[in-house]
Amino acid sequence: MNCTNCQTQLNPGSSFCANCGTPAQPVVTPSAPHAPRAASPTNGLAIASLVTSVATVLFCGGLLSFVGAILGHVALNQIKKNGQAGRGLAIGGIATGWAITGIWLLLVTLAFSLSNTSTF
Ligand SMILES: [Zn+2]
Repeated sequence: MNCTNCQTQLNPGSSFCANCGTPAQPVVTPSAPHAPRAASPTNGLAIASLVTSVATVLFCGGLLSFVGAILGHVALNQIKKNGQAGRGLAIGGIATGWAITGIWLLLVTLAFSLSNTSTF
């Protein structure tokens, strides 16, 4: 066992470090008991949500971005239940998906009002 303070090798059975006087403690691996969430896998739907939201912009002008947003909502629900990672991805997918859908709705509304005014 090594000293937790100065990493000096401790004598077996000694309760204090001979070098700096720090009480000898069992070696604690920082990742083991404190971070159970790091071990859980990233939610697949959260990844799909962000990918879909961004990919629809590239492949069909964002017309189907609401699909990515809906996937994100489903992913968030799953993450809430099972504590998986990927919450940020899901929120990113929702934000991107609805933002682009909102722009589309705006454009459609604009096109409608323009066509109405030009008809009359
Ligand atoms: Zn020490």
